[in-house]
Amino acid sequence: MAQDAETTLVAQHLAAIQDRIAAAARRVERDPARVRLVVVTKGVPLGPMRAAREAGARIFGESRLQEADEKMAAMGPCEGLEWHFIGRLQRRKAKSVIGRFALIHSVDSLDLAEEISRRAKAAGFEQAVLVEINVGGEASKAGFAPDAAADAVREMDRMPHLLVRGLMTIPPPVADPEWSRPHFRELGRLGRSIGGLGLTRVRMDELSMGMSSDFEVAVEEGATFVRVGTSIFGARHG
Ligand SMILES: *Cc1c(COP(=O)(O)O)cnc(C)c1O
Repeated sequence: MAQDAETTLVAQHLAAIQDRIAAAARRVERDPARVRLVVVTKGVPLGPMRAAREAGARIFGESRLQEADEKMAAMGPCEGLEWHFIGRLQRRKAKSVIGRFALIHSVDSLDLAEEISRRAKAAGFEQAVLVEINVGGEASKAGFAPDAAADAVREMDRMPHLLVRGLMTIPPPVADPEWSRPHFRELGRLGRSIGGLGLTRVRMDELSMGMSSDFEVAVEEGATFVRVGTSIFGARHG
C-alpha cells in the first residue's frame, strides 16, 4: 500500500476505536478518559506503527521481547510514548524488561514477580506490573487461578521493587463478545475484593481486558486498559 494511504487508514481505524471506547464508557456512565488504548503492535511493521504514533497512539503493547527490542531501537526515543509488555515473560528474561516497559501486564507466577522485583532493585527502580488471571481456567493459558490470586498478590505486596497496579486477563476466544462479559465482570469483582484486603503497596486501580473482538464489553465492565491490534492494523501475518 502507498504510504499515505496506509497512514490515513491506520488513523481512521484508531479514531474509530477511540470513538467506540468512548461510546461504551458513556453507556455505563464511565469517564472515557479512564480507559486507555494499548495499541498492540506485535507482528506490525514500523511503517504502520509510525502512522499510529502520528495519529496519536500513546501506548504500544508488544508480546515478544526480541521484536520489542528491535522496534524500540528503530523507533528511537519518542516523546510521550509508552511501551507495555503484554506477552508471556520468561523468568530469565525479566532483567531485559526492567525500566524499559512502563507496565508489564502479564505477571503470571510468584517466581516471575520475585525476579522482576530483584532485578528492579538492582537497577534502582520500581517496576509497575499487572497480575494475570486465568479467568477461563484454560490449561493452555498462563495466569493465576482466580481463587489463588489474593494470596499471590499478598505475597507480591512484600516485594519491595514491584508495584502491583491491577489485574489483566485474556478470556477464551469467543464468537460473540457478550460471552466474554462474565469473565470481565469476574476480573472486576476480583480486583475490588483484592483492593479491599488492606494491602499496603498494592493498588488495584487498573483492569487490562478486552481485545479487538470484545473491547467494548470490557469497557462496559470496567476496563482501564484495552489491548487492540487487529482492528487497527488488520490481521497479522506472522
Ligand atoms: C495480540 C494480543 C492482543 C490483541 O489482540 P487483537 O485481537 O489483535 O486485538 C491483546 N492482548 C494480548 C495479550 C495479545 O497477545
